[in-house]
Amino acid sequence: MTRKRPLIIAIDGTSGVGKSTVARRLAQELEVPFLETGAMYRALGLKVAELALDPADQESVERLAAELDLELRHRADGGVDVLLDGMSLGERARRPRISEVTSAISTYPGVRRIMVQHQRSFAEELGAVVEGRDIGTKVFPDTPFKFFLQAPLETRVQRRLKQLEASGESDLSQEELAREVAERDHRDSTRAESPLTVNSSYRVVDTGSLSVEQVVQAILSEIDQLS
Ligand code: C5P
Repeated sequence: MTRKRPLIIAIDGTSGVGKSTVARRLAQELEVPFLETGAMYRALGLKVAELALDPADQESVERLAAELDLELRHRADGGVDVLLDGMSLGERARRPRISEVTSAISTYPGVRRIMVQHQRSFAEELGAVVEGRDIGTKVFPDTPFKFFLQAPLETRVQRRLKQLEASGESDLSQEELAREVAERDHRDSTRAESPLTVNSSYRVVDTGSLSVEQVVQAILSEIDQLS
């Protein structure tokens, strides 16, 4: 019997561009799980910070990644919880300090290899909407459904600020946050290993001037045409 290939939708883009919100809604519409890969890298970033490891110590960080107690668990609502040591990450993983550590440790090939293995084995089971930085270029290069979201830095910083304020986790001013986001985007886009890039296999969607629903509908109609 031939088995139908699972539906895999890749959503990539810079920080604060709305990837998670859009990916969550798309996953509901398409009735597949939604995987936020940034949370997996953040879990490692959190652990590095908890253990007071030096993020620049590549060997120790890669060893820690190989031993990390990371679990992806399906929720009844279609979402996926990323569990570190058996516990949900929660908002602490979104703190600007953890974002910085995460961006630094995600440059290591030994870290990426492990995360990508987890992502593939998870999504190949039931299909998924997978969001991150390298999903369409490295993790699932063969899927025809690739979307690259973009929006101006100012808009992205405003969104991030609102998110952080709502969770009570922001201790940065708007200017400091803008610097942190710009630095992280730069590092994510210029690293040697799996940088954030866009190529002609993606559909580019500008989220700056569209509502979440408009973005979701635009992507759904593209998927329909490509199917
Ligand atoms: O998406 P989010 O902002 O939560 O990602 C946190 C960090 O994790 C990013 O800045 C990036 O350094 C890293 N990341 C990555 N590859 C992914 C997802 C996230 O390198 N697929």
